[in-house]
Amino acid sequence: IEDPKCVAKTFPDYFEALFSLVQADPARIPVLCVDGPTASGKGTLAAQLASQLGYHLLDSGALYRITALAAGRAQLPLDATGEPAIAGLAQGLQLEFTADHRVLLAGEDVSDAIRTEEAGMNASKVSVLPRVRAALVDLQHGFRRLPGLVADGRDMGTVIFPEAPLKVFLTASAEQRAQRRFKQLISKDKSITLDSLRADLEARDARDSSRSVAPLKPAADARLLDNSNVSVEESVKLVLGWWQGKQPF
Ligand code: C5P
Repeated sequence: IEDPKCVAKTFPDYFEALFSLVQADPARIPVLCVDGPTASGKGTLAAQLASQLGYHLLDSGALYRITALAAGRAQLPLDATGEPAIAGLAQGLQLEFTADHRVLLAGEDVSDAIRTEEAGMNASKVSVLPRVRAALVDLQHGFRRLPGLVADGRDMGTVIFPEAPLKVFLTASAEQRAQRRFKQLISKDKSITLDSLRADLEARDARDSSRSVAPLKPAADARLLDNSNVSVEESVKLVLGWWQGKQPF
């Protein structure tokens, strides 16, 4: 089904009806991966692609952010000494993703709590731990449901969905990324400075790129997209063109 959104007006529950009757082999469900460094615009691009294609969306960074939040609340050290306990927590996360893009942890809305810079930095710390990464694999594979998935993260194309037909590696200069993050955050936190944000995101990228398990890097067959001077609309159009070029799968 190349244009799942075509049912939206005439038969909006078409897929619910169809999938109550049939099952698909997950390996044949299309996945479009969007990987890249912090604040490269992955989240925005992935959400728009998912919406335009009528696909599900996996924000894998949210899973590491939630794991770090849960670990912090349990007062676990976010390093190797806490690894077994944090992996246990990650395995048992009771998560719910709502239709209006909120995320609930054991019923509590943690959407805002996981979006701070500190939460991102803590996510980067727990994501270095191999057992924590392993504990989150099945959860991520579970997002691969019909009619398709757009998966956003650091290792979507290299580790989680290596057989995906299209892998996009999104980049932008550190300067641009810090500027974008600054604009997002300054209304909420007046004490933030551009220099400290840039230093934070470079530190996070350095840790994400140098870790031994699933480091941040483009898959060998990834298409690179530097969006420093490309608008979101243009990026979406470009990637949708690449996606069309990959069909039929
Ligand atoms: O994408 P986001 O900024 O929400 O990710 C937060 C952190 O989670 C990243 O800095 C990275 O350390 C980690 N992460 C990861 N693998 C992913 C997604 C995120 O290691 N697939």
